[in-house]
Formats: sequence, structure tokens, C-alpha cells
Amino acid sequence: MEKFCVFCGERPASKTKEHILPRWLLSITGNPKRTLKLHFPYTSKESPAREIAFDALHFPACLECNNEFSVYESRAKLVVEKMLQHAPLSATDFNTLLGWFDKVRIGLWLGFLYLGENPFSVSPQFHIRKRTNTKDRAMVIYRADDQRTGLHFQGINVPMFHHFPSCFTLVINEFYLFNVSADFLLARRLGFPYPKQLALRDGEMFVHIQPSRERIMLPPMRLPFSKAGTEIYQPMFANEVLKAQPEVYDTNYVQNMSMDWSNGIGWPLQMRDKRLVKISTDPTRDWLPEQKHQRTDLHVMTIRQTLKMQADLWDYLYSTTDRNLRKTMDFCQHTNRKWCKFPSDQISTLSKN
Ligand SMILES: [Zn+2]
Repeated sequence: MEKFCVFCGERPASKTKEHILPRWLLSITGNPKRTLKLHFPYTSKESPAREIAFDALHFPACLECNNEFSVYESRAKLVVEKMLQHAPLSATDFNTLLGWFDKVRIGLWLGFLYLGENPFSVSPQFHIRKRTNTKDRAMVIYRADDQRTGLHFQGINVPMFHHFPSCFTLVINEFYLFNVSADFLLARRLGFPYPKQLALRDGEMFVHIQPSRERIMLPPMRLPFSKAGTEIYQPMFANEVLKAQPEVYDTNYVQNMSMDWSNGIGWPLQMRDKRLVKISTDPTRDWLPEQKHQRTDLHVMTIRQTLKMQADLWDYLYSTTDRNLRKTMDFCQHTNRKWCKFPSDQISTLSKN
């Protein structure tokens, strides 16, 4: 693959290296010099498992982009450290955390396209900048019953993620952070303007926007996943519609549900006592899951859930008359669903390091 900046997609002018998994994250989860065994089931090489140092997971980036995004890193670092200390978190902290998850998810996607030799010849239509803080997002925080350190990611090295990098799980010590983000994922059920249908043709998306219903419907995502963790949702609308027809979003309801209306950033929400409530601007410990899960079970559960969500999500959101795209998606969904049925010991090898 040609070298491009992971942030903007251009050929990097003054080249720097971006660590997709930053050093601070490696340090708080174990020895930063440790190696990670990456499995590439779809590489042309004979041995699909390759060992690379965590610290060596870096990719090209422009100096300017790298400097700009390093501000994100320092903010995210503070939030993750607070989480690991079970400290109170605010709405702003969650906005930061979810933005950083956008960055990590897209960074891992582009990184794996490089490392895995891009077996499906995916040509990225967006990079970190375009895809950070722009689309609806959700996170479920699950908690393991031990304090073991470790960093894992789940759902990255599968064909579905190569094509559609919308869902993955990041494991940071005791927390399993299940993350989903996609176009209008929450819009309709959170009462935001929404498209009746998202049609994909020739790599383009066709949107016919509907006025908002201005009320919340529960659950916010009608997709199956375990509720035994803290559910966070954030509507985002920094999209083409906001640019072209800002009046669509200029309603009291949307204003009230926004953290930063002019940048299309909705208010982070949390499910509590079967209600969806705004996360407070004053930090609280409401986010900390009371329920703890046995580590091995949780590890397998989140891998299965990530693969299943990736497979289900596409049909939940999009429709297409493009036969090739449909064929590709059928293959990806079939692969994920097949892996979901693997026995636990086999499935856990999909995320081991
Ligand atoms: Zn750049």
C-alpha cells in the first residue's frame, strides 16, 4: 500500500510516526516493550501469525496532523487514568473518551490494512480526521472481577472490520469497552432528524432526511448485546446535512440534546434505572459498573458480541442494490457468524496477546 497519513489520508509532507496504541496506554497496561502476537487469517503469507512489538505499531503521519491530535491523546490519557482509579467522570470526560475511541478504532483499521497487506484491496474513503467526532456512537463498559493488567483488542482482524470499521472492543486492564459508531446509528430513536433509508450505491451514500420525532425511544439501539455493563450513547451530527441544511437541526429539542451544537456534538447519555439520562457536567461515579464478570467468560462474551454486532449492524443501517457490495457483505457476515459458533477456547485465540 502507498504511504499515507493516518489522520488526513494525504501523502505525509514532513513525516512523523503515529503510535496507534500510544505509549502511555502500553505503560499503564504492562511492559511497553512486550510483544503482541497478531493473527492475520487472510494474509497471502504462509504463516498467518506474526509477532510484533506493541511499541512497533506505528504508522506514517504528517507532523501537523500528529501535533494536532496529540492534544486528544493527553486529554484521553487523563480520562482513562481516572477510569482505572474508579474516579468520578463528567459529560466532557465521556465526550473525550468516545472521541478517542473513534481515533483508536480508525487508526487500528488503517494500521491493520497496512500490516495485513490489505487482502481485500479496501481503498479507505476516510481517515482519522474525517471520522472522529462525526457519527453517532455508543459504548458499553463491562468490568472484570480481577485487577489483572493487559491491553487487548477484539474484532479488528476480521474481514467485516476491514470493510466496515464500526465496532470493536478495547480491553484496558479490568475494563472491557465495547464500542459501536455509525451513520445515524441512534438518530431516529433518540429523536434526532433521521434518514428513512441509507442507500449505498457506487461507494456513495444517499440520504433522505426526515424531521425528528423529538422524543426518546428505548432501547436506543435495537440490536442484541449484553446490558450487564454501563451503556453510554452520544448522538453526533457533524454531517453533510448540518453543512447543507443547518435548519434541519436548528430545533429546541436538538439544541437541548447538544453539547456543542455548531460542531454537531450531542450530549453524552447514560442508561440508568431503565431511563436514558444526560450525563452530568459535574463528575460522578455513576458510570462505574457494579456488576463484575468472571474474566474468561467476559473475554469470550465480548468477542462473540463484537463479531455478532459487526454482522448485524450493516443490515440494521444500510440497504444496497449493488450486487458486488451485497456479495462482499454476505461473505463478511457469514464469516463472523461462523466464528461466533466456535467453542470458547478456540474463539479466545482471536484476541490473545
Ligand atoms: Zn496528515
